[in-house]
Amino acid sequence: MSTTTNAMSSWIDALRAAMDGQVLLPDDPDYDRGALIWNGAIDRSPAVVARCASAADVAAALRWGQENGLDIAVRGGGHSVAGAAVIDGGMTIDLSRLTEVVVDPVARRARCGGGATLAKLDAACQEHGLAVPAGTVSHTGVAGLTLGGGFGWLTPMAGLTIDNLISAEVVLVDGRIVRASAHECPDLFWALRGGGGNFGVVTEFEFQLHAVGPMVHLGMFFFELDRAEEAIRLGRKFFADGPRNAGGAMVGMNAPPAPFVPETAHFAPGVALVVAGFGTADEHAALIASLREAGPLFEFVTPMPYVALQQMLDEGAPWGVHSYTKGFYLDELPDRAIDVVAAALRAKPSPMSQVLLFPFGGAFADVPDEATAFGGRRSATYALVIDANVPDPRMFDAERQWARSTWDALLPFAAGVGSYVNMMSEFDEDRVRASYGAKYERLALIKTVHDPRNVLRANANIKPA
Ligand code: FAD
Repeated sequence: MSTTTNAMSSWIDALRAAMDGQVLLPDDPDYDRGALIWNGAIDRSPAVVARCASAADVAAALRWGQENGLDIAVRGGGHSVAGAAVIDGGMTIDLSRLTEVVVDPVARRARCGGGATLAKLDAACQEHGLAVPAGTVSHTGVAGLTLGGGFGWLTPMAGLTIDNLISAEVVLVDGRIVRASAHECPDLFWALRGGGGNFGVVTEFEFQLHAVGPMVHLGMFFFELDRAEEAIRLGRKFFADGPRNAGGAMVGMNAPPAPFVPETAHFAPGVALVVAGFGTADEHAALIASLREAGPLFEFVTPMPYVALQQMLDEGAPWGVHSYTKGFYLDELPDRAIDVVAAALRAKPSPMSQVLLFPFGGAFADVPDEATAFGGRRSATYALVIDANVPDPRMFDAERQWARSTWDALLPFAAGVGSYVNMMSEFDEDRVRASYGAKYERLALIKTVHDPRNVLRANANIKPA
C-alpha cells in the first residue's frame, strides 16, 4: 500500500470510527444511493458520503469534514434543482436514513426525520386524517422544501410549511445539537423558516397538523393552446375569488397520456387549471362550475385520497430528468404578462417543460412578513416558475435557453429579480439578496453567530456579516 493510500485509509477510518452510519467512497456499492440527486443534468461526485444514522453522526461528520478541509453539502431528499446536495470532491452528509415520522394525533403534531420524503410524512399523518401543507411532488425531501418555505395545495388553507413548523433539532457546525423553537434559540428558529440550510443541519422537524381528507376533491380543466390566454385569464379570476379551503395552480403543459385524458388529446399542449378542494363534494361542485362552463378540451373531476393527490404529479417529474428552473414572484398578473406566457408556451420545445403559476393569498398572506425568514413578500399573488425538463441531455441546452428567454421576457412584470430560493437553478448572489430583501441583514448576523466561516455554503448562500 502506498503512503497516500495509507493516509487516505486512516483518514476515512477516523470518520468510520466516529459514526454509527456508513461512510461511503466512490467504489462502495451503496455510494450511488447516498450521492444520488434528482436532477440528471448535474454530474458531480463527492469524495465521501457520510450516511448518518443520528444527530451525533451528523455532528461527527461536520467536525471531520472541517478538520480535513472538505467542502460540505447536506442531502435531505436530493431534489435541489441546483444540485446543492453534492459537491465534486467534497463531502455529502446524507440524511436518507433519518426518515422516521411519529404522529401525535391528539396534540395534532408530527416529528419527522431530516431525510424523510413528503410521501413518508403524508402517509404517516393521513393515518389520522391529518396533514401538514407541503409540496406537490411526493418524492421531494421534507428538509430542503421546509427550510426554503414550502408551498403546495394546502397553502391557501394552512400557509407555508414553515408556518406550521413548531420546532427543529439542529446540529450546528461546531457539533452542538440544539432545539430551535419560539422559546429556544428563537433567532435560529426564525432563520430556519425560509433561510435554507445555511445555519445548521436539521435532523428532526416538528410540525403542527391540520385535519385533511382522507378523501379530497380534484378538478382539472385542460384548455387547448389556442385558448391559452383565455384559460389563464379565467384562472386569474377563479383564484382571486377562491375560498381558503381550496388550493390550485395554472400549468402551461402538455396533457399526459393518462387514462382520464381522451386519446386524441394525449401530449396536446395547453393550459391546465388545477383545483384541489378540501371542503365537501357540494362545495367543490359549486366552486368549479365556472371552469366547467368554460368548455375545456377535457376535464377530470373526482374525489381522491389526499395521499393520491400528493402523488398525482410524481410521474411527470421523474428522477434523472435533466432540469433547469427559473422564476420570480408576481404582485399582479396583467393581460400583457398572460400574452407573454402564452407565447412562451407556443415556443416551448419539450413536452415535459412547463410554466406554472401558483396562486398565494389566504393563510399565506395572513402571516406578517417579518414573522419568518421566507424569501418573498406575503403580499405576492403568484409564484411563477419556468420549468425546463428534458429526458435527453442533447436537448438540454436549447430547453434551458427557452427558460432563460421566457424569464427575460416576463421580467418586466415581476416583483423584482428575487424568487423562491427553493426553485433556483443558480444561486446568483444578487437574486438571493433580492429574494430576502431587508431580511438579509438579520440572516447574515444569525449566520455569523452559527456558521461564521460559512461552512454550509452549498445553498442559496447567506454570507456571514
Ligand atoms: P436537497 O437537494 O437534499 O437539499 C436542498 C437544500 O437544502 C440544499 O442546500 C441542502 O444542503 C439543504 N438541506 C437538505 N436537507 C437539509 C437538512 N436536513 N438540514 C439542513 N439543510 C438541508 N417546492 C415547493 O415549495 N413546492 C413544491 O410543490 C415543489 N415541488 C417540487 C417538485 C420537484 C420535482 C422538485 C425537483 C422540486 C420541487 N420543489 C417544490 C422545490 C423543493 O422545495 C426544493 O427542491 C428543495 O430544496 C428540495 O429539498 P430536498 O431535501 O429534496 O433537497
